[in-house]
Amino acid sequence: MTSSVQEKLRGLPAVHKLLAWPSAQEWSGIYGREAVVVAVQLALDEWRRAILAGEDVEVSDAAALVRVYAKLGEYTTLRLRRVINATGTVLHTNLGRAPLADVALDAVVSVAKGYSNLEYDLAAGERGHRYTHVEALVCELTGAESALVVNNNAAAVFLFLSEFAKGKKVIVSRGELVEIGGSFRVSEVMRASGAELVEVGTTNKTHLRDYEQALAEGADLLLRVHTSNFRVVGFTHKPSLADLVALAKRYQVPFFEDLGSGSLLDLRKLGIGDEPIVRESLAAGVDVVSFSGDKLLGGAQAGFLCGQKALIDRLKKNQLARAVRVDKLTLAAIEATLRLYRDETLAKGQIPALRMLLAPAEELQGRAERLACEVARVIDGKAQTRVLATFSKVGGGALPLVDLPSYAVGVTAASLSPDALHTALRRANPPVVARVADDEVVFDVRTLLAGDEVDLLAAVSSAFVAATDAEGGR
Ligand SMILES: *Cc1c(COP(=O)(O)O)cnc(C)c1O
Repeated sequence: MTSSVQEKLRGLPAVHKLLAWPSAQEWSGIYGREAVVVAVQLALDEWRRAILAGEDVEVSDAAALVRVYAKLGEYTTLRLRRVINATGTVLHTNLGRAPLADVALDAVVSVAKGYSNLEYDLAAGERGHRYTHVEALVCELTGAESALVVNNNAAAVFLFLSEFAKGKKVIVSRGELVEIGGSFRVSEVMRASGAELVEVGTTNKTHLRDYEQALAEGADLLLRVHTSNFRVVGFTHKPSLADLVALAKRYQVPFFEDLGSGSLLDLRKLGIGDEPIVRESLAAGVDVVSFSGDKLLGGAQAGFLCGQKALIDRLKKNQLARAVRVDKLTLAAIEATLRLYRDETLAKGQIPALRMLLAPAEELQGRAERLACEVARVIDGKAQTRVLATFSKVGGGALPLVDLPSYAVGVTAASLSPDALHTALRRANPPVVARVADDEVVFDVRTLLAGDEVDLLAAVSSAFVAATDAEGGR
């Protein structure tokens, strides 16, 4: 260490001196003294690192004050928090997939706040089971004989394979060996569960005879996986569900289908995509299907296993079921969400994911026009705003080819690059995540929820204020 570095380190303000500031005392009253001490140390650490890295650091009291306050903000703000999704991707996996319906939130709060009959049978006055609360409802909505809800769909697939495919040969079409979100690969889940993968067919074409040959050679289980997040287009073929069911029956092997998203509402009838509904697979005779709770269903993170009672009973008894069990908050959210599906109008009107997916373009246009006026008002000539036609995505690895016609507000500023503006928006509270396209920051109004507009305007306004300050300070 050179003497000048040592000198600079010694020149840093002392902790007790910083804590003695009137502002620091005031912050102690609000955030607690411990938090202010940590913030001071974090700020000092940062300066020390900069000095050791050879930077020329001189800490004025004013600069120290600003730095400590920023550290205090970072230290005391919840890390996991609400953000505003202006990307237009409805089931944005990085942004938490489906927002919950109000009735689901109420159910979660009521169950979380106190005690519940999670594993208590109120009628009998004795121990009950957590799975009974939603099982009948899932069966009612899907036509399944029996059902089990677990932590997520990945766990559902893993549980099924662990019970029925350990040490057995499982047939999967080469066109269905998908990877979802980087961490769920069909081939690897199979390996982890002790199943032996028997690949049949090719990437684009798999015929019934390919499956039949594998069964004739002794395969034990037939697995079909929904190619959620990609589509092979052009010269393709896969056997119909009915043909596969008949084949599985003929060879007396279980037929399991990982539906991925698992839609309960027929979006095809509403002009969106080609997603099959859960009921169809079960009606066609698939033995057990699995799907997610927070994709197209629009509920909380969960995995559903539905189908034949004899098979579901075995899953319920599997030791792993405990390891992947669903918690009470999720069950509360799921039950309330599923109830909405008893009436299609309620589901479409109250489940935020469905409401956003089904929002008519004219409505979005009106909202974009109003938002553009408001944005123009808060940035007061510091940038240009316009309304543009755009496309939203479904997201969550569902319906990758569907482009939902939407409207957005585009903001271009001479003083602030789109990336710099987006960075400032992500630092706002609540943070705003938008799209950057060409020279514009784009806010797709489809994914803005009630109340988001006000916060978005505040974020835009503070981003421009911060930019102006930075310029003035230069
Ligand atoms: C999304 C998906 C999964 C994983 O579901 P999670 O609920 O996220 O665990 C598994 N299989 C398919 C086909 C999927 O689309």
